[in-house]
Amino acid sequence: MAINILKDKCKGCNLCAKACPFGAITIQNKIAVIDVNKCTLCGACVSACPFEAIEKEEDKKPKKDLSGYKGVWVFAEQRNGKIMPVVIELLGEGRKLANEVDTDLCAVLVGNDVSKLADELIGYGADKVYSIQDERLEKFTTDGYTTVITQAINKYKPEIVLMGATHIGRDLAPRVAARVDTGLTADCTKLEIDPDDKKIRQTRPAFGGNIMATIICPNHRPQMSTVRPGVMEKAKFDNNRKGEIIEVEFELRDEDIRTKVIEVVKSDKEMVSLTDAEIIVSGGMGLGNADGFKLLKQLADKLGGIIASSRACVDIGWIDHAYQVGQTGTTVKPKIYIACGISGAIQHVAGMSDSDIIIAINKNENAPIFEIADYGIVGDLYTVIPQFMESLDNADSLLEAVKAK
Ligand SMILES: Cc1cc2nc3c(=O)[nH]c(=O)nc-3n(C[C@H](O)[C@H](O)[C@H](O)COP(=O)(O)OP(=O)(O)OC[C@H]3O[C@@H](n4cnc5c(N)ncnc54)[C@H](O)[C@@H]3O)c2cc1C
Repeated sequence: MAINILKDKCKGCNLCAKACPFGAITIQNKIAVIDVNKCTLCGACVSACPFEAIEKEEDKKPKKDLSGYKGVWVFAEQRNGKIMPVVIELLGEGRKLANEVDTDLCAVLVGNDVSKLADELIGYGADKVYSIQDERLEKFTTDGYTTVITQAINKYKPEIVLMGATHIGRDLAPRVAARVDTGLTADCTKLEIDPDDKKIRQTRPAFGGNIMATIICPNHRPQMSTVRPGVMEKAKFDNNRKGEIIEVEFELRDEDIRTKVIEVVKSDKEMVSLTDAEIIVSGGMGLGNADGFKLLKQLADKLGGIIASSRACVDIGWIDHAYQVGQTGTTVKPKIYIACGISGAIQHVAGMSDSDIIIAINKNENAPIFEIADYGIVGDLYTVIPQFMESLDNADSLLEAVKAK
């Protein structure tokens, strides 16, 4: 791969030198000259040249024929015969994408004797379920799953493949993408179809969440993304939906699977289901100590909700990571999110800004959390929360009093 200046076309206008972020281009004798030691082949000069005098060699490569690739595929991750919640979210999102590119929504179900889950996937919107069953696929192994999914992709040629950005999805997707020689965008938070060319635009937070990068995969297929759990809307279940189940033929030799799963051990950590919670009372460093979460738990119990946390409290050891909301934690969309002593850093907000109602309690009236809060209370949480709970206790008599007026 190289960048070449076509000397007969170059006018020495200097626009490429201005566009080069690395100062790799100079004009010598009215012709642009590239310093190969500084050039990173980024291609900024190619698009900056109005005379088409700069050529990137890879552009000359014959383009792949992408016309045969059809269908949006969702990897139906299952564990112990249970479909993971992110799959339902991907089917919801996949349906929108499939409708926009006018194609089928399909699920890929890999496992041992789990074909019974196909009907569930159809109920959630899959037009077709590609079922890959084998006793050696009972437990997830990177090798086993990669081998069979790669074969299915090569045979049926989907246009888009979505996987949940779970531990399994994050492990599997890059292997599959490398084997089928295509692009993968990891940990997407937004997917949309470009109305002009019908390619998928994949958006994900980058550089610690400080920018949102939108990435396309123009010349390879399938376009692959892993999608962060909890971000997309869940598909609705419809018992009456009909779909087709396709038993996929595949070749899997014992030696293809280099790892042996001896035992799957579930940690005895408390299970926290932040994504399903309707009311979340979340605490940050403003709590001052781990015991602060006890107060939040009292409030959460009163409201029928659960507690959560910012990353700072997790890092300091006040609470387990399972409770963390944000870019490197869980993304939540409850009806009510009460942020107590949380400053509202972009990485935290990235995981809760889609909540229906955000209530912030913070001592500092300039805390960024107030920029996204629907209701803000400036004050010490240790004063505000007990008062709040007291009002909840007296809610009935307060209502009575109001009605009596
Ligand atoms: C790559 C990367 C990923 C990250 N991922 C995440 C993530 O997933 N989730 C996450 O949360 N963070 C994440 N962070 C960290 C994030 O940048 C912030 O550091 C973190 O969110 C701050 O937590 P906090 O709001 O609890 O603490 P602080 O920023 O210290 O804020 C404490 C707040 O409490 C207020 N306060 C203090 N005392 C009281 C009181 N008595 N009553 C009321 N208010 C009070 C203060 O005014 C302040 O606003 C990430 C950072 C990086 C670099």
